[in-house]
Amino acid sequence: SLSGKTAVITGSNSGIGLGIARALAEQGASVVLNSFTDRDEDHALAAEISRDHGVEVRYIAADMADGQACRDLIRQSGACDILVNNAGIQVVSPIDEFPVDAWNRVIAINMNSAFHTTAAALPLMRKAGWGRVVNVASAHGLRASPFKSAYVTAKHGVVGMTKVVALETAREAITANAICPGYVLTPLVEAQIPDTAREYGISEDEAIEKVILLKQPSKEFVTVEQIAGIALFLCSDAAAQVTGTTISADGGWTSQ
Ligand code: NAD
Repeated sequence: SLSGKTAVITGSNSGIGLGIARALAEQGASVVLNSFTDRDEDHALAAEISRDHGVEVRYIAADMADGQACRDLIRQSGACDILVNNAGIQVVSPIDEFPVDAWNRVIAINMNSAFHTTAAALPLMRKAGWGRVVNVASAHGLRASPFKSAYVTAKHGVVGMTKVVALETAREAITANAICPGYVLTPLVEAQIPDTAREYGISEDEAIEKVILLKQPSKEFVTVEQIAGIALFLCSDAAAQVTGTTISADGGWTSQ
């Protein structure tokens, strides 16, 4: 059980982050949900998860594109035994046309945020004598695809950062690992379907089959629940010596 632990999950009002938050709450952890919005429905979502699992769930708005806001999120959480760096966005464009603003945003949200939250969370983990850093990277942290230069750069960076954090905490009861999913059907991927179709000049159905799942030999999307299961494993005692590594859930993508 994770009761007594506080988990902070960045970018968790949707998709994979929300799935991980629900799974951690189910195991008894107190949960901090986050995104950049501060809507009634964000706070209602926290109340719903709290009711479902009988644990404390707070929603704290913070923009993961802003380094100080990342650090403030951890400070406001008060404790952070489990840090899940999940917030992420995708922008698809050839590198010579890649808008500079979009590049900076992808790098800030997908990579720099994990630096800031980890820097703020490690002292809290050390004080508690236990900690887990779970970075939601990607198969694109290990392999590349055209038109995703900022995303591939950021995710490779996160995989590298994960290894350094593992080494700096190696003698403590703290681990740092990265989950590397292939394609999971979430709003992030749904939004890429029209972009991909346009980029390749094909229909949306063809974009799914021939481009998006091209590299995923299983030809099946990964599920949010499967990713949440890996996060729970990384938080368990069985994973105490699993540190500085990646766990892929990609239907065979990175075996190629
Ligand atoms: P999603 O769009 O459903 O979720 C992204 C989350 O990040 C949302 O909660 C969103 O509100 C939040 N977010 C976006 N910008 C933010 C900001 N500036 N500040 C705070 N929060 C912000 O997408 P998802 O597929 O669930 O993606 C979650 C993570 O998983 C991302 O890091 C993504 O790169 C990674 N990932 C996804 C897939 C996939 O196929 N869906 C595959 C590999 C890795």
